[in-house]
Amino acid sequence: MSYAQRVIEGLKQKYASEPVFLQAVEEVLMTLQPLLDKDAKYEKNKILERITEPERIISFRVEWVDDKGEIQVNRGYRVQYNSAIGPYKGGLRFHPSVNLGILKFLGFEQIFKNSLTGLAIGGGKGGSDFDPKGKSENEVMRFCQAFMTELHRHIGATIDVPAGDIGVGGREVGYMFGQFKRLTRSYEGVLTGKNLLFGGSLARTEATGYGAVYFAQNMLEDRGENLEGKVCAVSGAGNVATYCCEKLLQLGARPVTVSDSRGMIYDPEGIKVDVLKQVKEVERASLTRYAELVPTAKHTPVAEYPEGRNAVWSVPCFAAFPCATQNELNLADAKTLLANGCKCVAEGANMPSTLDAVHAFLEAGIAYGPAKAANAGGVATSQLEMQQNAGMQSWTFETVDGKLKDIMGNIYKNAAATAKEFGQPDNLVLGANIAGFRKVADAMIAQGVC
Ligand code: NDP
Repeated sequence: MSYAQRVIEGLKQKYASEPVFLQAVEEVLMTLQPLLDKDAKYEKNKILERITEPERIISFRVEWVDDKGEIQVNRGYRVQYNSAIGPYKGGLRFHPSVNLGILKFLGFEQIFKNSLTGLAIGGGKGGSDFDPKGKSENEVMRFCQAFMTELHRHIGATIDVPAGDIGVGGREVGYMFGQFKRLTRSYEGVLTGKNLLFGGSLARTEATGYGAVYFAQNMLEDRGENLEGKVCAVSGAGNVATYCCEKLLQLGARPVTVSDSRGMIYDPEGIKVDVLKQVKEVERASLTRYAELVPTAKHTPVAEYPEGRNAVWSVPCFAAFPCATQNELNLADAKTLLANGCKCVAEGANMPSTLDAVHAFLEAGIAYGPAKAANAGGVATSQLEMQQNAGMQSWTFETVDGKLKDIMGNIYKNAAATAKEFGQPDNLVLGANIAGFRKVADAMIAQGVC
């Protein structure tokens, strides 16, 4: 049994109740074997055993009072996974499905993603099982304040800098920043994704979605292709999906789908991003509202999806952009996409494709951009926000967007060159994993056992 397999088996025994965490670990570790074979120092220094264990997990009770005067209790977490190359950095997720296993999967992925950006940021993730849906503004504010009342002890501009993720956007970041400031009397860049009025960066809101499209462009350019005039399928209807659609439209492509937890929209003329923003960002409504506002669009409720699959992936497309959540694209979906002629998949969400779906894309030899490379634009731009805060500066949209574009180009080049170095030039999963891992692992070895 190889070193990687032995570590995976050990983790399976220890963390049997955390299946998505084990899935993420397996996906990364199984691609590292060529590097581990080439250099014995990683096994000698027990790097896999060390890098898979978070440096610190903070778990806490969050108490707040709802509009009816009733006490509510949620669980909050921050997983400070790895600080070898910089302060912990990664989003906060507020969703009823949140548990420690999900946050460990996200934090583990974040280590390698952040390393790939080429910037000095370690890996972390956090969140709560709080569901912002159906809550009033005041309830969301009180929850965010209660959450930060504990979290503030553990974070700081050079310690750990959280950002948004599912269920955490500008509104929630604002309430948490306000509470941090009140508790610490410190005005610092402790959160990213802030409002432009108090230290936010232009282009941060757009960055993850735009970045995924820039990554797809890089992959396609190398294959003599581009996105112009191409039909694209996008899942999700939140931050990442919205700005993925926006960039696709700017480049002359035609995104024809978006989806949320209740159903999907098929709009053959192309998604109207202004309507999507109105429905999701302003009204915070379901996509049924989009269909009310756009007569050409058809809404299919989740209950009508064939065999529980994601109906978005049955729409014939040239390129697919999964931008909703983990494991939303399975092997059957991958086969349907390939049979319909899909030539490119760039992942905006974290681990949206199951392991067997990933293998199907790699075997088919299409341009496949794994999440930790393709969606790294968000965290990279968060780091640009940290740089602006530290220097008390505000850069223009064009400056930040230009840097984002360069960073996505560099991530692609780094992943592609590493894939080539290890003899699998089209395998960006292997390239991204090895490139991201090598930098962090070498930093850990250089810093000794600590
Ligand atoms: P949002 O909360 O803005 O949007 C999430 C979207 O996905 C919503 O439309 C939501 O539907 C849908 N969704 C969530 N869970 C499910 C589910 N179980 N089934 C079906 N649909 C679901 O989140 P983001 O856009 O920020 O995040 C999307 C993905 O991108 C996540 O995987 C996140 O980790 C990843 N990501 C985000 C980054 C960022 O900068 N925001 C950075 C890097 C990665 P509904 O509206 O009904 O809730």
